Amino acid sequence: MKAEPSAQQTLLDLQAKDSTIAQLTHRRKSLPELAQIAELDAEIAALDGKRIEASTRVSDLEREQKKADQEVELVKTRRQRNEERLNSGAVTNPKDLESLQHEIVALDRRIATLEDAELEVMESLEEALAALDMVANDLQARHQTRDQLVAARDEAYASIDAELADVQAARGAIARSLPEDLVALYEKVRSTHGGLGAAALRARRCEGCRLELNGADLRELAQAPDDDVQRCPECSRILVRTREPGL
Ligand SMILES: [Zn+2]
Repeated sequence: MKAEPSAQQTLLDLQAKDSTIAQLTHRRKSLPELAQIAELDAEIAALDGKRIEASTRVSDLEREQKKADQEVELVKTRRQRNEERLNSGAVTNPKDLESLQHEIVALDRRIATLEDAELEVMESLEEALAALDMVANDLQARHQTRDQLVAARDEAYASIDAELADVQAARGAIARSLPEDLVALYEKVRSTHGGLGAAALRARRCEGCRLELNGADLRELAQAPDDDVQRCPECSRILVRTREPGL
């Protein structure tokens, strides 16, 4: 392929812009905030599981407490009724009176037992509420940190994107100034050579593969006409002869 030496030099400018675009794209993908957000998301998911567990425990205990309250109330009502009967004077048979008194004593014991159980449920409920509170606070703190990280990430994105837009515009202008077949060759080589399609020959070294060319290859390059598009004999990238090719 043939191309004016000046076009070949400009190809290095195009390569420089493409390398900058690749660096910016890489920086965009590897912002430290992205890993931190991912880590936080995992923590938030785990904490959210704990929050659901704690919340379920609270509602279970609330239900249990309500049931315990109702049981106590039921037995207290029955005791009240017995006491009213006892005090009404309607029961006169000594045996009946005795059994009524026995029942009241038994109901008092039952009330005491139920109230103990009720107290236990209330203590458990308090603990469960405290645990739920703790998980909720942890979650809130992590959400706050995440919001800050997202803001920092978006700020970095905006700055990188602005820079990318500038470089891409400049890259487009350079590409349009070059012969189409040269750009096509460059793109083809670049796509299979790690993003580096054209490299300078400087001090006998290809700046693409960093290898020093042997004497025979260098002699051949020196003898080739200036408008011959050369390829590196080692890495086959487009080799642009600079003012100090070391030929
Ligand atoms: Zn090379």
